[in-house]
Formats: sequence, C-alpha cells, structure tokens
Amino acid sequence: MDYRLIKAALIDMDGTLYDSMPNHARAWKRVMDTVGVDATEDEFFLYEGQTGAKTIDLMIRRAFGRPATDQEKHDLYAMKAKFFVEQPPVEVMPGAIELVKLLRNHGIDTVLVTGSGQNSLLSRLDSDFPGAFPPEKRITSASVTHGKPHPEPYLKGLALAGVCPEEAIVIDNAPLGTASGHAAGIYTIGVVTGPVPRAELEGNGADIVYNSMAECAETLSRLL
Ligand code: CA
Repeated sequence: MDYRLIKAALIDMDGTLYDSMPNHARAWKRVMDTVGVDATEDEFFLYEGQTGAKTIDLMIRRAFGRPATDQEKHDLYAMKAKFFVEQPPVEVMPGAIELVKLLRNHGIDTVLVTGSGQNSLLSRLDSDFPGAFPPEKRITSASVTHGKPHPEPYLKGLALAGVCPEEAIVIDNAPLGTASGHAAGIYTIGVVTGPVPRAELEGNGADIVYNSMAECAETLSRLL
C-alpha cells in the first residue's frame, strides 16, 4: 500500500467517527420491543451499515413472514430516530479527530459515507470535524438506493471525491462496511470499535484491521 498515491479517504460515521453504535443498538431493540418483534441488542451491530429500511424489512420478515410495508419502514425508522436521540449523548470516537486532521494535513480529501440518515449526528459534523465533511461531501442514506454491503455507497463516495479506486482508502468499523469498500475496489481499513471481532472484518474484505481509531491514526502518521 503506497499512501503517497492516496487523494481521498472515504470514512464511515457510526462506530467510526462517533461512538454511537451502542445507542443505535438500544434504540433498535426498543423499536422491536414496541412492535412485538424478538431481537437482541447485539444483532444490530451486525446489521450496521445497511439502510434502516433493510433492517426493518429483515426483522418484519423474520417475525411475521412477510415483507415490511413502506409505511412500516417509514414509521419504524422515525420511531428509531426518536428513541436514538433520547439516549445519552454520543461522544466522538477517541482518535477520530486526530485521524481526520492527519489525513487533511497531508492533503487527503475526506468524504463521509454512511448508511445513516440520523440528523442528530449529521448536524454535529461541522462542529466536531470543522471543514472535513461539508454537506456536499456526504453520502448518506438519502444518496443511495442500495446500502452497504453493496458497493454503491463507496462508489458514490469515489465519484464525489473525483478519484479512482486506486487513489482512495475506506475506513469503516462494520463487516457490511468493509465488504462494501472491498466490493468498490478500494483499499479498505477495518477498525474494531465495538463487540464485532476483527476476524469478522478480515473475513469481509478489510485489507488491514486496526484495534482502535487511535491505533489507526498513530500508524498512518508514520506511513504518510
Ligand atoms: Ca459504522
């Protein structure tokens, strides 16, 4: 991997820039409890990266043996977003600010690639990461037809950055995310930031896995 060729970093949000996954998992579990669908908090870490609509469809199919209606997808996602903001405040992931600064100081463009449409976090990006992820440098759930692990989100991130796959890196914490980056043909860095073990990232397209965002930042500071 020659980092001198890299012009853009395509970076995931939940569980990568923000330590938000426990809150997402709790909010999803509460939605499923409300509508009478059996689920565990931990399983939502594995669905991380796919669209909310897809997660809702998966749960409704499993519980009731039929696809979710568009109304259910809309209503349950709204409920989940409401439950999410009722959780304790989300912290920036330790090491994330340092990593984003490091990349930008080396002239590497940064683009957000998230399956989320959670405005409570998207609206914080400008203050937590000044200049790094302006609205025109974001791929969100509103930008794509297919969520991760489909390559579409990261392919659209490449297009936004105006670079080819060989000129980019992906940084993502979830198996579906690393699979998406890999499928887009991009060198993919997996970061362990929660209960998902590194083997899940290695088995889903990650070219290298770091044990934290801080470790990723520290290592890249030596490679760049
Ligand atoms: Ca993530």
